[in-house]
Amino acid sequence: MYIDYLVIGQGISGTWLSYYLQKEGKSFLVIDNNKPNASSRLAAGIINPVTGRRHVEVWLADEILPFAWQSYNQLGNELDISAISTKSVIDFFPSPQMKLSFQKRIEEKGNFVFDYPDQNHFTSLFHYELGCGEVKPVYIAHLENIIPAWRQKLKSGSVLIEEQFDIDNLSLTATSVQYKDIVAEKIIFCDGYDGGNNPYFKLLPFAPNKGELLIAEIPGLPTNHIYKKGMIMVPLATPGMWWVGSNYHWEFDTDQPTKEFREKTEQLLRDWLKVPFTIAAHHCGIRPATLERRPFVGLHPVYPAIGILNGMGTKGSSLAPFFARQMADHMLYNHPIHPEADVNRFSRILSRNIS
Ligand SMILES: Cc1cc2nc3c(=O)[nH]c(=O)nc-3n(C[C@H](O)[C@H](O)[C@H](O)COP(=O)(O)OP(=O)(O)OC[C@H]3O[C@@H](n4cnc5c(N)ncnc54)[C@H](O)[C@@H]3O)c2cc1C
Repeated sequence: MYIDYLVIGQGISGTWLSYYLQKEGKSFLVIDNNKPNASSRLAAGIINPVTGRRHVEVWLADEILPFAWQSYNQLGNELDISAISTKSVIDFFPSPQMKLSFQKRIEEKGNFVFDYPDQNHFTSLFHYELGCGEVKPVYIAHLENIIPAWRQKLKSGSVLIEEQFDIDNLSLTATSVQYKDIVAEKIIFCDGYDGGNNPYFKLLPFAPNKGELLIAEIPGLPTNHIYKKGMIMVPLATPGMWWVGSNYHWEFDTDQPTKEFREKTEQLLRDWLKVPFTIAAHHCGIRPATLERRPFVGLHPVYPAIGILNGMGTKGSSLAPFFARQMADHMLYNHPIHPEADVNRFSRILSRNIS
């Protein structure tokens, strides 16, 4: 079988890349092993306009945030699902220092951060001694709707192969790749955390980061906000259900959930919430993060039939649509990729021998 593109992985990166390839009328196949704890199957999907303790604007905010809003809305309309919604984050200050830093940001006239006008508004729901601020608008990409709906679309078009891709079966010619009986002009790896083992890209500075979360039933909580106090609580599509997380570990021995996280988070919820809750599930995933917190996008400098769309780190919901579009435009129209994301910034390291 001859196709234009073979895409490995249908997390949020592979979803958006295959979406744009389809829009461009290209032939493609997606191979995905449906790993239950792949990052995109666990993420809260938050698209936060600010980041870090100082609440500074995220990288490329002016371009990436409107692009995400527009593209998720378009995808949602086409698939007839709710793909994105707007909320605000109620940030309950966990310490006097965090309160000061938030207020300083407001004084600096930072975008997206606001005083919350009625400081007693949430007293029937939460314990919070140090007050709260508000970050808005914050989007939620509903990955729990998007990933299965796009998968269904791929299946109905017979362009999804549900299996483990084995790189030992990949061979290259000067202008194409062959995998089993598939010959493709290019193969693009959107395989998340597993990409760190890919012989063509394993020298890239991946820095995988482990994160855990709980799914909690909290019937009494209004769903027009995301709530934050050390942890973040995000309303899920199922009424009364909440995503609660997360932690960030750069060093880990296992990708399994830990007793320590569960106990600590349950305790935090007991101390924070005034309404009852029950824990329904506990999961753990590995974020495909990178040392310099920028994604890896583009074609291999030595093997241009091989490409990568990976390294989305903690921000795949916002970065994936934007850089999938850049990747598609690069392959189809030779448009440049943003230099901070272009994988060719590592061309020297990627030119070393493959083993
Ligand atoms: C706890 C947690 C919370 C998070 N919260 C947020 C958040 O609120 N907002 C945000 O923007 N980001 C968040 N993230 C990060 C986000 O999940 C990632 O940035 C994003 O999902 C990465 O998507 P991806 O498609 O690049 O990789 P992945 O989601 O890992 O997808 C890779 C896909 O490739 C498949 N695959 C891999 N290897 C193979 C193979 N050999 N053969 C076949 N298939 C294969 C996998 O099954 C998977 O479907 C969170 C992550 C975690 C763990």
